[in-house]
Amino acid sequence: MVLAPLTIKMTTRTLLTILALGLTLGLGGLTLWADKGGTIEVVTEMPAEPTEKVVKTEEDWKQELTSEQYRILRQAGTERPFGKVYKDFKKQGEGKYICVGCNTVLFTSGEKFDSACGWPSFYDPADNDKVKMVPDVSGGVIRTEVRCNTCDGHLGHVFEGEGFDTPTDQRFCINGSVLRFVPAEVAAAKEAEMVKHEHGAEATSEAKVEEEKK
Ligand SMILES: [Zn+2]
Repeated sequence: MVLAPLTIKMTTRTLLTILALGLTLGLGGLTLWADKGGTIEVVTEMPAEPTEKVVKTEEDWKQELTSEQYRILRQAGTERPFGKVYKDFKKQGEGKYICVGCNTVLFTSGEKFDSACGWPSFYDPADNDKVKMVPDVSGGVIRTEVRCNTCDGHLGHVFEGEGFDTPTDQRFCINGSVLRFVPAEVAAAKEAEMVKHEHGAEATSEAKVEEEKK
């Protein structure tokens, strides 16, 4: 008679423990993807690309980036797969993808392809010098990490030989949260402006030469 209530008590306690454990694990999972990462910001005016390495303090990065961007770019985090970023990415047309940390052009729509993996995919960077590959053995698997060569920010990983029908059979699996999209017309406007500026400078120097001849 004494044992019966004890058994019930223990069972209740066990049940509660299981419930608490389940709740903790569940909440842990929720926390992991709690930040939906917003969207890929669309740029209306193309910023100038940096000409030298970009180095900032952790405090500066925290101030300038959203918590999701900071977690990915500076702490080698990963965004939620098949999220809003991925859906937006798939809908975007022609343009360039620049680094959210330093404005370097990293990828273009020309190398974008649908790998159906849940993250933005490219078969090549815009320019090999703009990204760097670093061996990554975290998580018990050997992978190749892709970082921005200008600000050293984590972008994602690159995989190869997966059988994709692309010119390189490489999959640059990139976190869209750390990219900004520059639509082709915005990029073209910037290029036109630069050409105009260069011609303007030429005209000025020609005028100067003419002036000096006199
Ligand atoms: Zn960068």
